Amino acid sequence: MSVLREMTEKTWDLIVVGGGLTGVAAAVSARRQGLQNVLLIEQAGFLGGAPSTLLINPFMPYSTTVDGRRFELSRGFFSELRRLLEEVGGYRDGGREKEDIHEEYLKLALDRLVTREGVQPLFHATLCGVRKKGETVEAVQVVTKAGVLTFAGRCFIDCTGDADLAVMAGCPYHLGREDGLCQPMTLCFRIGNVDIPTFQKNRQAMQEKYKRFQAEGKIKNPRENVLIFSTLVDGVLHFNTTRVVKHNPTDPFDVTEAEMIAREQMFEMYYFLRDNCPGFEKSQLLYSAGSIGARESRMIDGEYLLTQEDLVGCVKFEDAIAAGNYDIDIHNPEGSGTSHYYFPAGTWYTIPYRALQPKNADNLLVAGRCVSTTHEAQASIRIMPIVATLGQAAGVAAAQAVKAGVGVKEIDVKALQEALRQGGAFIGY
Ligand SMILES: Cc1cc2nc3c(=O)[nH]c(=O)nc-3n(C[C@H](O)[C@H](O)[C@H](O)COP(=O)(O)OP(=O)(O)OC[C@H]3O[C@@H](n4cnc5c(N)ncnc54)[C@H](O)[C@@H]3O)c2cc1C
Repeated sequence: MSVLREMTEKTWDLIVVGGGLTGVAAAVSARRQGLQNVLLIEQAGFLGGAPSTLLINPFMPYSTTVDGRRFELSRGFFSELRRLLEEVGGYRDGGREKEDIHEEYLKLALDRLVTREGVQPLFHATLCGVRKKGETVEAVQVVTKAGVLTFAGRCFIDCTGDADLAVMAGCPYHLGREDGLCQPMTLCFRIGNVDIPTFQKNRQAMQEKYKRFQAEGKIKNPRENVLIFSTLVDGVLHFNTTRVVKHNPTDPFDVTEAEMIAREQMFEMYYFLRDNCPGFEKSQLLYSAGSIGARESRMIDGEYLLTQEDLVGCVKFEDAIAAGNYDIDIHNPEGSGTSHYYFPAGTWYTIPYRALQPKNADNLLVAGRCVSTTHEAQASIRIMPIVATLGQAAGVAAAQAVKAGVGVKEIDVKALQEALRQGGAFIGY
């Protein structure tokens, strides 16, 4: 039997759609809980999602201070990921919560991980349909070079970032904040051959010049400053600084226009730096990400809607499956400015399992930046360390449901929490 026939004829224990950090965490965690057949579907030609496709770097902070000591909130699969990345040379702990990653090493580390753990990856396959009977998802359809393929499964996890699977399955959702606007989209890019010490010495002056150029109308990018990070490559800087507002990340025509606007902003920024800022005189524009990045798009209306009040109140949910304290970091959906709410040292919130459960589906979970949250809560839970922990929780929960022959909402939550702790996770208490 051909491989293609074999893969499409079996019923998978679990199908994970979206091979970002969340999806990989989910698939690997489910395998480790004893599921035999786990299919991981990804539209790109590699794993990792945002850090691989969008060049997102670094890991944002995920720890606090307890009794004068650093206390990590995102652990378990995320700690393992850091270790794997370090082993292949794609990670640098720069201290003070500055953890750079290299996308090519990340892709390699994740290929090896899923291979070792017996997850079946499928690249270059885009979800395009869902077959559902009552509340039960029976199969997903993906478009590939071999045409539209159908995969049947017992359980499904949507890790697409945009809740594509849940939406196609008819589960309720919302887009962005109450007026439908989402956080801005950003096309990340890299500039090389920078004289880094000279740039650092003149960094403040560069920011002031940027503001002046903006006020004079020479810079059209509405972002309030230039957002730059280091990379693992000598002389190369990472720019997370283009800003496209009032475009819907799930409307293909809006995204097309956003890509073009962001590309203009990238060149505007490069010429500004090269021609006006010490350290950039001999710099070269290297490349931009394969796609503009959406910080926020669709989020499910799940069995629990996590809110800003829950986060600020540091609520410890009975069904907590993850913890976090990244600031509520909202890039203005309408223009200039970024607002922050920082959590006091020693405090954190939890994320309930119910936020991963879409309504109207009994064998489907959602993990990643599209779980059930408000715009404000999503602005904190969306970072890479936290979404990886959500993936781990979803994978373990799905495995428990399949093994017990029950729906994902019927599992024993205490057993889920215990399995997560055994897997090294911190669930908030
Ligand atoms: C511009 C920008 C800057 C950011 N900066 C930082 C930062 O500095 N540090 C930090 O920690 N976080 C940062 N974040 C947030 C973080 O990177 C993301 O929120 C997080 O990685 C999302 O993870 P995810 O797994 O939910 O989604 P993704 O990483 O987007 O993964 C989803 C995966 O699903 C695949 N997919 C989507 N739709 C389909 C489909 N229909 N069929 C098949 N496959 C599909 C995608 O190709 C992708 O691989 C940033 C985000 C953006 C956009």
